[in-house]
Amino acid sequence: MKILVINAGSSSLKYQLIDMDKEEMLCKGNCERIGIPGGIFTHKTADGRELDKKVNMIDHTAAFTQVKDALLDAEYGVIKSLDEITAIGHRVVQGGAIFHKSELVDERVIQDIESLIPLAPLHNGAHVQGIRACRELFGDKVPEAVVFDTSFHATMPPKAYMYNIPYEYYEKYAVRRYGAHGTSHRYVSARCAELMGQDPKDLKIVTCHLGNGSSITAVDGGKCIDTSMGLTPLDGFMMGTRSGTLDPSVVTFVMEKEHLTPGEMDQVLNKKSGLLGVSGVSSDDRDVTAARKQGNERAKLAQDILEYQISKFVGGYMVALGGCDAIVFTAGIGENQTAHRAAVCQQLAFMGVKMDPQKNEEMVRGKEGEISTPDSPIKVFVIPTNEELVIARDTKALVEAMR
Ligand code: AMP
Repeated sequence: MKILVINAGSSSLKYQLIDMDKEEMLCKGNCERIGIPGGIFTHKTADGRELDKKVNMIDHTAAFTQVKDALLDAEYGVIKSLDEITAIGHRVVQGGAIFHKSELVDERVIQDIESLIPLAPLHNGAHVQGIRACRELFGDKVPEAVVFDTSFHATMPPKAYMYNIPYEYYEKYAVRRYGAHGTSHRYVSARCAELMGQDPKDLKIVTCHLGNGSSITAVDGGKCIDTSMGLTPLDGFMMGTRSGTLDPSVVTFVMEKEHLTPGEMDQVLNKKSGLLGVSGVSSDDRDVTAARKQGNERAKLAQDILEYQISKFVGGYMVALGGCDAIVFTAGIGENQTAHRAAVCQQLAFMGVKMDPQKNEEMVRGKEGEISTPDSPIKVFVIPTNEELVIARDTKALVEAMR
């Protein structure tokens, strides 16, 4: 069974074709700058064939046409006919309080995703465009499923997801914590239990997804009980360009001083803050590391803040869990930036975290494994995330249940 996994953004469309018999990726690619002049289409097969072309794509349907052509291409293709694709799985960022699990797509599901656009204006609208364009091209005979970034967090208790503001805003506007990166937290926490050879039900795990966007989740017995992202992915701790949590008065204070509209302040908090805002160098942690090595004090400050805030969240979630068996690092920074992992583990050493420095240095660039010492009471793992595989697995399960 082959499943096409789609991640549609407002101006991009990422895809992977996965052979589910072996759970192997056959090819992946990206359509960039959809609807903007200067479009770029890239396609790579598992056996190393690469297509890279400049092509304007006026909308998502045009992008899907590129994907379809590449999949079938004599030189770069991986299938002979579209009939080989059994189903399509779409990533959806916001499932709100409506979707607690993955679902097969029908018109009601599309409308429900659309109804959640106010909670994820940048994402859900694009997902709907992606789903509709996909249906246009593949027809409705190919089943489609939607897998939500939020659904892993649906098990949070109200004390974790409610904000301390008048209750009526929850009732009127559904303002609450929803979290994000749930598919990643779900994958790495389950994989961690596998690597430990234990039933997820018996484990308390803190998962750290540290990338350009970052979140930390407390997983108790395989279920999320708390997570750092909130109503939107702005909440939590320092990210590439996002501020994470701050005193809400900072927002109104700066808006007044700088005469900013809500939209402009939103841009400041989402696009100009975090590593970029504090360091003044870059949102990319590699650039900040390079600047720090050259003696840039603000680059050092930004990274000190990042490590300090990650440690505080992990420590807080250990308390929320009432103990901790393992900590997992994943995503770009979590999988590669060994200095941050070492600093976080050092700050948590008094709680029983013992890192093996050599294993830590070795576990980079897609490697998976334990980086704690054999006698560490709390185990530490690096696990490359694989959200596409989770989407494909859920899609396969839904399609098989339908048959
Ligand atoms: P992501 O959003 O998961 O792609 O992660 C992006 C972040 O991970 C950026 O801050 C990068 O600096 C960092 N990152 C990605 N790859 C590497 C790498 N090979 N070495 C060091 N940092 C990396």
